[in-house]
Formats: sequence, structure tokens, C-alpha cells
Amino acid sequence: MISFKSANDLRKWTESQRKEGKIIGFVPTMGALHPGHISLIQLAQKDCDVTVCSIFVNPTQFNDPADFEKYPVTIERDIHLLLQQQTDALFLPAVAEIYPEGTGSLRHYALGDMDSLLEGKYRPGHFQGVCNVVHRLLDMVQPDHLYLGQKDCQQCMVINRLLQLTGMDNRIQLHIAPTLREPDGLAMSSRNRRLTPEQRALAPLLYQQLSAISRQLHPGDITPLLTTAIQAIEKAGFRPDYFEIADASTLQPVHQWDGRQSLVALVAAFLGDVRLIDNLPLN
Ligand code: AMP
Repeated sequence: MISFKSANDLRKWTESQRKEGKIIGFVPTMGALHPGHISLIQLAQKDCDVTVCSIFVNPTQFNDPADFEKYPVTIERDIHLLLQQQTDALFLPAVAEIYPEGTGSLRHYALGDMDSLLEGKYRPGHFQGVCNVVHRLLDMVQPDHLYLGQKDCQQCMVINRLLQLTGMDNRIQLHIAPTLREPDGLAMSSRNRRLTPEQRALAPLLYQQLSAISRQLHPGDITPLLTTAIQAIEKAGFRPDYFEIADASTLQPVHQWDGRQSLVALVAAFLGDVRLIDNLPLN
């Protein structure tokens, strides 16, 4: 595996790969890698000649500075996992490499409702930070294929919009990989390692409630399904930011279901100071 800290060196290398006719796959991450991340690398390896993984804990997407400071960093282990997976290239930039002009003046992207719905509402500025970093990374890597996880459902929609807004959708194909889960259903996440053993034992309840909604979904008024789910997680000690059933293509909340509209259930909730998110496409 070849590792880059410099964006220029990375650019030169990806350019040389492209000149050789190689198809480039890209998996952006914030590190603390787990099998969910590795599943994206495996997908890229199936489609592409070379796979680039980036590890960058992007300061501009953290609306809560404490969350940024506590974000797990396990770089030695990450490198070991990437080597084991025979990843071709790792991009490990410093903040100044991504934001040479500083993080003060960011570009604004017209994300419409995405900035005010669900994650957008509870993490103000988060998706603007995501777009700023992903745009810069895509300019540096110039991939043919980009791999993201359904775990971050709204982020996938936002990045799809970023590709459209910048015209990059003409040359970059977006792939969305299914959420990898622990045997008890908990969505794998770098943040899970911050849970205490007691919190870790409670955490699968989010997926259990998403699954219950999926099983009990019926045309008509679906708000009672949400009320039951919210009560169940609150009783167990979660502090939910939101629990919604939404249109799968717009993320607008749906209360009356016509039996046809594609839906997704989404939840974000705190256990202690750890914020967990999960979602499940329903039909
Ligand atoms: P992160 O390092 O959390 O920013 O995640 C990097 C990429 O991995 C994003 O596209 C995530 O959606 C994806 N990802 C995170 N967790 C999972 C998971 N459990 N299964 C599949 N993909 C995931």
C-alpha cells in the first residue's frame, strides 16, 4: 500500500494510474476502521483497478467540538486493516492539506431541505462541512467510482446532490453499500467503541425498533408506530434527537402511508454522550 500525506503527491499518483487506463475507486472515511468500512473497500476492489481510502477526521463537519475531540483515532490499527485488505493507496492528510486557506471561510452548497431536515436540523452546518471535505477529496483523488454506506443515509443523498451541483455526476459513479451490523443488530460505527459495556448492551434496541416498524408497517396512519418506538428507546435511557418515517427519496416525514410510497425509518439518539444513528429502508 502506498501512503500519501500530500495532496499533490496523491494527485500525481492518481493521474499516472489514470494514464495507464486504470479505473479508480475511492472510499472516504474518518478512520477508526471497522468491517463496515472494509466492506466498502471490498466493493471498490471488485469494480476498480485501484482503490484509494482516505482517513481524515474533518473538523468542519463537527457541530459539537467535544464530539470532534473525542472522535476515536486508531491509525496504527487502521493501517494494519488496510494492508490486510490489500488496499492500493491511503490518503492521510493533515488539516492544512485539505484546508490550506484555513477552515474559516467555507464554500456554501445549495442543499435545500437536507440542511434543515433530520441530521441537518440537529447538526447545524454538518452537511456543509461534509460537502466541503468531500468536494476537496474528490478533486484530489479524481475517482471513477465513489463508495458510501447506507448507514449514513442522509449523507448519501447530500453527496449525490453535491455530485449533481458540481457536475461531477458525469464522471463519478456513486455506490451505496448496505449497513454492516454486529450479530445483535447494532450498526457498526466508529463511535460504538465509546460506549460503556452497559450502553453497548442497550444499543441494539435502535435496530430492534427500526425492525419492529418495518414488520408492522401498514397503509394509513403510521404515527403510532413511531410513538411506540420512541417510548421504547426513551424508557431504556436513550435521548432521541429524532425518530422518523420518511419518504426514501426526499426524507420528508410521512404520517399517512398510501402503501406504495418508498419509505425509510431513521433514528438518532444519545446514549450518555455518544450519539448513535441508524436507519432502515422499509419497503
Ligand atoms: P465514517 O468513517 O464514519 O465517516 O464512514 C465512512 C464511510 O463508511 C461512510 O460512507 C459510511 O456511511 C460508511 N459506513 C460507516 N459505518 C458503516 C456500516 N456499518 N456499514 C457500511 N458502511 C458504513
